[in-house]
Amino acid sequence: MSSQSASAAQGLKTCSCGHNRHHPLVIRKNKYSRWGFFALLLGISVKPIFARYQCTKCNELFDETSDPVELNKYLM
Ligand SMILES: [Zn+2]
Repeated sequence: MSSQSASAAQGLKTCSCGHNRHHPLVIRKNKYSRWGFFALLLGISVKPIFARYQCTKCNELFDETSDPVELNKYLM
């Protein structure tokens, strides 16, 4: 059983429906360090240490990243 799809060219994982992390139905769940979470509560911009991607259609957690470059886009 191959999990390859059209998005394989980009090296992105997909869920059972074939959605990759950039699909509108896919939500990102940021994960922060303990200190980062505390800083968030104080209203300080924090970069997540880790992010997971979940499809809202099949509820599959199919991808994750700890790439600093990628996570920098999610600074909040
Ligand atoms: Zn899906």
